[in-house]
Amino acid sequence: MNNQQLETQDSTRRTFAIISHPDAGKTTITEHLLLFGGVVRQAGTVKARKTGNFAKSDWMEIEQKRGISVTSSVMQFDYAGKRINILDTPGHADFSEDTYRTLMAVDSAVMVIDSAKGIEPQTKKLFQICKMRGIPIFTFMNKLDRDGRDPMDLVDELESVLGIQAYPMNWPIGMGKTLTGIFDRYNHRVELYKHGDESQMVKLDDNNNPINDDQLAEDDQFQDTKDSVELLDMAGNKFDEDKIATGDLTPVFFGSALVNFGVKTFFDAYLKYAPAPSPHKTEEGNLINPDASEFSGFVFKIQANMNPNHRDRIAFVRICSGEFEKGMDVNLYRTQKKLRLSNVTEFMANTRENVKTAVAGDIIGLYDTGNFQIGDTIYTGKQPVEFEKLPQFTPELFVRVSAKNVMKQKSFHKGIDQLVQEGAVQLYTSYTTNDYILGAVGQLQFEVFQFRMKNEYNSEVNMEPMGHKIARWIDPDQLDEKMSSSRNILVKDRHNQPLFLFENQFAMRWFKDKYPDVTLTAKL
Ligand code: GDP
Repeated sequence: MNNQQLETQDSTRRTFAIISHPDAGKTTITEHLLLFGGVVRQAGTVKARKTGNFAKSDWMEIEQKRGISVTSSVMQFDYAGKRINILDTPGHADFSEDTYRTLMAVDSAVMVIDSAKGIEPQTKKLFQICKMRGIPIFTFMNKLDRDGRDPMDLVDELESVLGIQAYPMNWPIGMGKTLTGIFDRYNHRVELYKHGDESQMVKLDDNNNPINDDQLAEDDQFQDTKDSVELLDMAGNKFDEDKIATGDLTPVFFGSALVNFGVKTFFDAYLKYAPAPSPHKTEEGNLINPDASEFSGFVFKIQANMNPNHRDRIAFVRICSGEFEKGMDVNLYRTQKKLRLSNVTEFMANTRENVKTAVAGDIIGLYDTGNFQIGDTIYTGKQPVEFEKLPQFTPELFVRVSAKNVMKQKSFHKGIDQLVQEGAVQLYTSYTTNDYILGAVGQLQFEVFQFRMKNEYNSEVNMEPMGHKIARWIDPDQLDEKMSSSRNILVKDRHNQPLFLFENQFAMRWFKDKYPDVTLTAKL
């Protein structure tokens, strides 16, 4: 492809993740999007996979038990002239650093909120990562078919809890049993709610009155909604495309994923404002344009195959520029070695097809026998490229780890070294006892670690849970080892930087009171 063709291809890509707290409705929405794209014919397919009733892949134990699979990590389909890449962000017990890192590979995010619950902890955590990246965030207030909280409250909460301005694109008319429809400010129409049916649109005149629908015009709920909308028009935030692009303002859509109400309206507007792939920053501070002719990309996730008969892993690469072609040679920046990319997977939903070409915004899965680490850059051409390092995330869960068999220290250390390098878990060493402590964002990371130590390094490990801790780094110049206690354990990370693991907020506050001049910092 020449640059012109590349540019046309890149501009059709929309690569995003859905961020939400478990049970807010992410799976249900994803399913509808796949239906729009014509990739699944029946609602329930993604769900069935999630609960393990779908055809089992050859991935084993942990994966099957938890229903994780490579095929659902990335879903690609075509819709309305765009090629959509949805990257899954696992929740529940599968929540891990991978979930965070996936957000490094998307160009925008859809935040799904249960309108009865409002903003929940996991949504908040994921939101903060998106906010840090400054990517556009679109909000879907879900479960409108149920009685939920006051819409005004929900919108206020976005501003007060998350600190993002909100612009409601539509506004509910009733809710739960009394749901009549949504007042679509953006398209200036009312979308009537008809359970199980195609929704019906009613046009509005310049005074926001329904055209040719007396029943709606006389509906008290509609009048209430009209008042709310007029209030929003006067006193609310203005629609601002630039602020959407920088993630300072989120367009808010109400709807119900379960009954497929408002989902298409949301998605169509989303596609209008969601960005195509943008330039990516290198470690040196240069920008690599998506339509640059040389290929480049970075590894944001490595998924180990849990099946001991298949030791291979899949390295997920976000393409940042150029065009991927099967069998091409690339350079791996970290080692300066050449690699041939012949064994590759793309992610058309439902099937794993061998990919032929892919461009910026697309994700490819490379079968890996140990060449890649998380954050690696690969590129073609003479000019070396290294993309900005992926951020480190502050772990919240900790375990003490040791080898079951003291005679097998060598394989224990080798395994830990490699798995830590790969980014599977974080490793800390206690100052006083030299104990190994592992930190993770989610429990699954420990389980995967234990499993892989046994299967790949023949090393059985003991893990002694230490529970939730608050990790805070301290400036080495300010450190006095006497500051540590059982309630704030002093450890060093793998770059030998000191940090405290605080038992809880109370212990941290106590510490800050005692040492007011000491600066404590969290990573992301
Ligand atoms: P996820 O954990 O975010 O992927 O959530 P799911 O999509 O699995 O949904 C969690 C539960 O909420 C399921 O029982 C869904 O059927 C239900 N659900 C999802 N969307 C809606 C909705 O719009 N209305 C109602 N009433 N239930 C919903």
